[in-house]
This record gives sequence, structure tokens and C-alpha cells, in this order.
Amino acid sequence: MKEIDPFHIAINDPATLAAGIKAGSRKIIGYMCSYAPEELIYAAGFHPMRLFSSKSEISLAENHLQAYCCSLVRGVLEDSLAGRLDYLDGMVFPHTCDSIQRLSDIWRLNTNHGFFADVIMPVKLNTASARAYMTDVLKKFQTDLEKAIGHPIVPADLEASICLFNRIRKNLARIYELKSKSPGLIREIDLFAIVKGAMIMDREELAQRLETIVLVLEKKDPPPSLAKRIILAGSICDMVDIYSLIEACGGTVVADDLCTGNRWFEGIIPVDIDPLEALTARYADRAVCPAKHSGNTIRGENLVALANTHRADGVIFALLKFCDPHAFDYPYMKEFLDTAGIKSLHLELDDHQQGQGQLSTRLETFIHMI
Ligand code: SF4
Ligand code: SF4
Repeated sequence: MKEIDPFHIAINDPATLAAGIKAGSRKIIGYMCSYAPEELIYAAGFHPMRLFSSKSEISLAENHLQAYCCSLVRGVLEDSLAGRLDYLDGMVFPHTCDSIQRLSDIWRLNTNHGFFADVIMPVKLNTASARAYMTDVLKKFQTDLEKAIGHPIVPADLEASICLFNRIRKNLARIYELKSKSPGLIREIDLFAIVKGAMIMDREELAQRLETIVLVLEKKDPPPSLAKRIILAGSICDMVDIYSLIEACGGTVVADDLCTGNRWFEGIIPVDIDPLEALTARYADRAVCPAKHSGNTIRGENLVALANTHRADGVIFALLKFCDPHAFDYPYMKEFLDTAGIKSLHLELDDHQQGQGQLSTRLETFIHMI
């Protein structure tokens, strides 16, 4: 689909994309975790840009991070130290997994990208005091941004930012909904490009492009699909090969439980209450990641519900090697799926993944089995 080409172009060359955005007068603040308050960053006049590893060889980052940290954290640090992120004007670190927290300290001491903020969100999300605390944390982050820009964030700008992000999320959710209803409507690599592109592209342009894609998809005659319906689960999935291999092996991704997917864009922010309380409500209520806590069984229940809603034939856990939060959660999540009679496959991935053949064989076997 030609409407998706700009997304492929964006994800293949984020540095050029960033240069264009800066020329359009927005400075760039990087983030790596879906708990980064993008709406506030945008309202302050910055462009929030999600960072992924360029997957270059790790050498400079070796001096700071052990080999048993996930390849996302190591790769992004390597990119910064090697000068590949010189377009950044700042970075924000939500307080989530240990690797991101450690990277935050290393980043503050060893890189020089201007603005820096830790956003120390609570770990437990399902109490009234946690919500009140989170609102205070967001207030502090707003103050940090205001110091950086030298003036208060105008309430109307924050409101407009929230509305813009709501528009983006609504259309991403609609694209996922259409894909689940008629999987043949959109190819796996295009779904990957749309969702990854949405985390880095200019947000005004993005909102318009997503609306156009939705209109085109809604008018398209859905081709029949006999592909097996797959849910991808895990932390981030920045490997287009997983999507294309699933398709090549006779599967189709109908939903995901990823923080580069549904967990990132799920949930509309209320516009009729105090904006910071509204942001808090979304972060507290959306599908939780394992670095946060909202109940002992909520993640397993969510995954089973997702699989049932989307009539999934199977779930593929695409977990990054050395990602402790997801590795610890995996056994109980699998148990929930087993109890519900839903088949699953566990893949341990790395940004420097070798052995595509083995991956393909495992996917093929699983997809034929379900
Ligand atoms: S899985 Fe959780 S901690 Fe990790 S990047 Fe995603 S939201 Fe952040
Ligand atoms: S992949 Fe896992 S360990 Fe790495 S940043 Fe995300 S949650 Fe943390």
C-alpha cells in the first residue's frame, strides 16, 4: 500500500527523519520506554522520539554495561557513544526495569544530549495513593520541561497535545481492529512499519497519515485469509523478520501484548478532567508491563482475554534475551495460556540475532501445529 511507504522510509532512516523534524523547529527528546509521558514532551514544544538500537556492533557500550543487559539498552547506549544520536536534544527515563534505570545513570554521566530527566513513576499502580503520587511525578516532569523551555506549558497546548495523541491512538487501534477482522487487509511488515513509525514520526503528519490509512483500509475488499491467527507478546519487538517469518510460515499477527504495540497505544486520555490526572488515569489503567504492578494475575488474565477476543490460534512470546521482567513473568503467563487451552511458543531474541533458519523452522513447526 503506497500510503504506508512513508512509514517504511521513516523507520529505515530515523536520523534523516530527525533532521527534518528539527528543521521544522521542534527539538528532539528521546525515550525508550512506553511509560514516557509523550503528551507533556510534545506540549512543551519538543518532538518525542522513541529510540531503538541501530543494531551496530557493540564496543563502546561494553565499558559501561555488562553483556547480560538486554540488547536494546546496550544498543542505544552504543549509538549514543558512537555519535549516531547526535540529533537528540534530550532524553527522558521513566523509572521502570532495572536495565533502563541503570542506563539512566550511565547516560547522565557519560553522554551529552542536553535535557535529561528521570520520571520516577510508582511501581504499584492500582492504589489511590499511587495515582496521587504519579500525578505529582508528572507535575515535577512538567516543571523540568518548563525550566528547559524557559516558560510554562500553556494549558491549551497540553490539551491540544492530548487530543492529538488520542487521535493517533484511536487510529492505531482501528488499524489493529481491521487487521484482526480481516488479516489479509494488511501485510505483517506493513503493520510493523506503521506501529514503529508512529513512535518516531512527526505527530501531526502521523495523525493525518493514519487517518488516511484507516479510510483506505475501510474501503478495501478484504482478501480471504486462511493464515493462523497469532498474538505476539513480550517487551519490545523491533525485529521485522519476526513479522515476515510469521507471514511466510502461514501465520498472521492479529493482536499483540507488546510495549511497541498495543500496550503503548492502548487507552484514550479523558479530556474533561485535569490533564495530569487524565494522564495518570491512562498510565494506571492501561495493560500493565511486568516492570509495574497492578495485581498478581492481571497480565495473565489480560493475555488470555486478548487471545479469546481475537480468536487467536496461538501466542508467540518474542522475548529479548536478558530481559528479566518478561523472563520472570513468562512461566506464569504460559501457565495461564495452558489452562485456557491456548498454545504458545517461546522465542528468545537478540538484536544481533543469528540463525534465521532455526527461527524459521521453529515458527513453521509451531504454526503448522496450532
Ligand atoms: S516492557 Fe515495560 S519497562 Fe520495558 S520498555 Fe516496555 S514499558 Fe518500559
Ligand atoms: S527489553 Fe526488558 S530489560 Fe530491556 S529495556 Fe525493555 S523491559 Fe527493560
